[in-house]
Amino acid sequence: MSTRESRSHWLADTQLTHLGRNPASHEGTVNTPVYRVSTYVWENTQALAEFRRKSADPAFRGNAYGRNGNPTTAAFEDAVAELEGGYRGLIMPSGLAAITGAVLAVAKAGDHVLVTDNCYWHARKVFDDVLSRYGIETTYFDPELGADIAGQLRPNTKVVFVEAPGSTTFEVQDIPAIARAAHAHGALVLMDNTWATPLFFRAFEHGVDISIHAATKYLVGHSDAMLGVIVTTQPLYAQVRSVVRDLGYIASADDAYLGLRGLRTLGVRLRQHQQSALRVAHWLQQRSEVLEVRHPALPGSPGHEIWKRDFLGSSGLFAFVLKPLPDEAVNAFLDSLQLFAMGASWGGFESLIGRQTPQRAVTPWQVPGVLFRIHVGLEAVDDLIADLDQGLAGIAHHFSPEEA
Ligand SMILES: *Cc1c(COP(=O)(O)O)cnc(C)c1O
Repeated sequence: MSTRESRSHWLADTQLTHLGRNPASHEGTVNTPVYRVSTYVWENTQALAEFRRKSADPAFRGNAYGRNGNPTTAAFEDAVAELEGGYRGLIMPSGLAAITGAVLAVAKAGDHVLVTDNCYWHARKVFDDVLSRYGIETTYFDPELGADIAGQLRPNTKVVFVEAPGSTTFEVQDIPAIARAAHAHGALVLMDNTWATPLFFRAFEHGVDISIHAATKYLVGHSDAMLGVIVTTQPLYAQVRSVVRDLGYIASADDAYLGLRGLRTLGVRLRQHQQSALRVAHWLQQRSEVLEVRHPALPGSPGHEIWKRDFLGSSGLFAFVLKPLPDEAVNAFLDSLQLFAMGASWGGFESLIGRQTPQRAVTPWQVPGVLFRIHVGLEAVDDLIADLDQGLAGIAHHFSPEEA
């Protein structure tokens, strides 16, 4: 098969079709097989000695024990890393493990971490409740701060953690400006790039040092596996690998296979999510019941100009705000939907919706009304719009109290 050098010129859809598989190494199979393995054996003492000699090189990735990986996990790691333009990937058992592992790999007791105030709520919980116990201090910054983040950097700030757009309220951060300030200060930029995926945000071209994906979402894409991946630059790889594998983090070959399977259709799926989500977002914007649609590709949405400058597309997840409603009406609306299920996740083929209560430390959430997050799946978009339409019709009397 072709070398990595020749493949890096391929366009994304060609990469998605060809990365992470090599029929010549696997009996001609189109897909990399599932290697279920804990234990490898060496043919003789000479082979073992040879393996030990090669292991001195931090870039060497031989098979010695299942916790260090197998050919299926390695194929997934290589495919994501190459797609994103990073050096190498590290498969992780979940997106959250990827966040925790990446931070633990580069920060230590006494360090300070700056985190965007609109980050994934469970990442916030890790910073506040877990890493704080190990002497890593976290403060939060306004996601719309941009270059002014310089004023928040402390002598001991080691990491700036960004998530653009934040996956609950969808402000897009100015990653290049943040990265310039962080790097001038000697801090690293870690990014949760789950929303855009490597297809729609080229993290390393915008100054990110470590890109993190909840592969559970769009990369796997079918709501049937938990998976994470950390992609690093070359200088950081050995250190991050050493720490996350020492912590015992690995994912199974079966789940790595599902990650590879998902990558094959990532391009077509994401473009369809994008197109349908934009249709639904525009439709919601026209509705009198809707106060605000927060979708990075809509003018007026926070950080839209930055999205336009830096991103190559938008995915299927966004938020909208309904005019204030009693809880019973919110519940009636959610219960009436046939195609939008209530689910905590997103990134699968199916549409989801949920009411959100953003948690903030320094930028209090003051938007009036009821915030919903919506994942627009791969159903026919006209059916999705009809579903929302009948859902809103069912609670129409709440919006015009004089007729109630
Ligand atoms: C879901 C999610 C995660 C965590 O991923 P898991 O695989 O569920 O652990 C991290 N970041 C974002 C933005 C997410 O939506």
